[in-house]
Amino acid sequence: MGRRRKKREQPKRIVRKIPKIFMCPHCNKQTLRISVSSKPSDEYAVAEAFCGECGFCARFKVPKLYQPVDAYGKLVDLYDSFTGNIEEEIRNKRCIGDLNGSKEEISENEGK
Ligand SMILES: [Zn+2]
Repeated sequence: MGRRRKKREQPKRIVRKIPKIFMCPHCNKQTLRISVSSKPSDEYAVAEAFCGECGFCARFKVPKLYQPVDAYGKLVDLYDSFTGNIEEEIRNKRCIGDLNGSKEEISENEGK
């Protein structure tokens, strides 16, 4: 009779932090959720911001140490420097940022 084996810890592939709520730079409501997630294999983390009010969405790379509040600072910069038509992006359910794409898929292309 052997002792029960310890449960093996399953390696988590994606570390997801609890989203935090911030003020949306687009509609100025306190409805912007930002989450930062990273995979051990990547050198950077991915920040995703989504506003439940106006549908504004952004996805961009951040250093792994970034907290949502840090990512928010970068998001505001991104928003300010965005030169396209933000309304159109929202209507097309597209996210701004260097990992832009649809809200549904996380782009894993090397991009730049
Ligand atoms: Zn908004």
